[in-house]
Amino acid sequence: MGGQDGSFLAELLLSQGYEVAGIVRRQPSVYASNLGAVLERIELVDADLLDRPSLNRALEETRPHEVFNLAAPSFVPRSWDEPVLTAEFAAVGVTSLLEAIRAVDPDIRFYQASSSEIFGRPLETPQTEETPLSPVTPYGVAKAYGHFIAHSYRDRYGLFACCGILYNHESIRRPLDFLPRKVARAAAAISLGLESTLRLGDRDARRHWGYAPDYVRAMWLMLQQDEPQDYIVASGESRSVRDLVACAFARVGLEFEPHVVSDPAFRRGVAELHDLVGDPNRAREVLGWTPSVTFEELVGILVDAELQSLSHGQAASSA
Ligand code: GDP
Repeated sequence: MGGQDGSFLAELLLSQGYEVAGIVRRQPSVYASNLGAVLERIELVDADLLDRPSLNRALEETRPHEVFNLAAPSFVPRSWDEPVLTAEFAAVGVTSLLEAIRAVDPDIRFYQASSSEIFGRPLETPQTEETPLSPVTPYGVAKAYGHFIAHSYRDRYGLFACCGILYNHESIRRPLDFLPRKVARAAAAISLGLESTLRLGDRDARRHWGYAPDYVRAMWLMLQQDEPQDYIVASGESRSVRDLVACAFARVGLEFEPHVVSDPAFRRGVAELHDLVGDPNRAREVLGWTPSVTFEELVGILVDAELQSLSHGQAASSA
């Protein structure tokens, strides 16, 4: 639960008065950076999606009413390096968790983190909850399995299972591998004279970029409804990589062109996804969900945070 979404979700649930337990596979110190603010207020339980008995034990010990499955390696290019591991966690792991829920308490409400990657090369644009899946990457294929198996258990066993099909959502809690943080860090570092270039792949690729705390609110809302169903969660604002870079550099008062270098190492070739455009109407109408942060505000949050952390670093090293 120490990733970006798990940590924001833990904060949201605590603020709603929940008792929160999180499944972890490593020592708590690994999670301290994201969970720092709430680490003392949550229970961490050792369990592993690849170890069925450990899941049963975790559910029996904690007796949850709601379970959110956010566990999966999420950096898409890496899924080509680790396709089997990706499938084990993001696909088979979902079945393990559903089996554990069925065995321990079938009344548990279950959230499955689906992803816009399940649409891969989309069969229609914008995508809705009814758009057929056509994943391209090992990550997308594994997430498509998770999506379908959650449906199977909902239909066959009547489990309250919801899939949230989330489009890109960011924060400073995401690793620097992901584009928005990478760009924000580079703009901040270049403006402080710490770096001079930003190496990028495809500048024409487009995404919907939203702010992660808004997206975990949607996850929680899904489990508060009378009936389980799937929801697309997307900002509704489609922007290109170039827009993102221009916006981040504008935040620090710089033109981006002199600093950006094309690097084929960051290009995804045929696996680049061009048409991921989500229609968040159902989330808006049924959940009353709207993002609270615009694209420009998101970029501002990321760049300002990087400026602050790099300036602290500079001050500390010159002290
Ligand atoms: P993803 O949509 O989950 O793969 O999230 P990313 O943040 O990794 O990538 C978003 C988009 O930015 C993709 O279309 C990438 O091809 C594009 N992109 C262009 N240059 C880069 C880069 O240097 N790093 C990353 N991570 N993405 C890049």
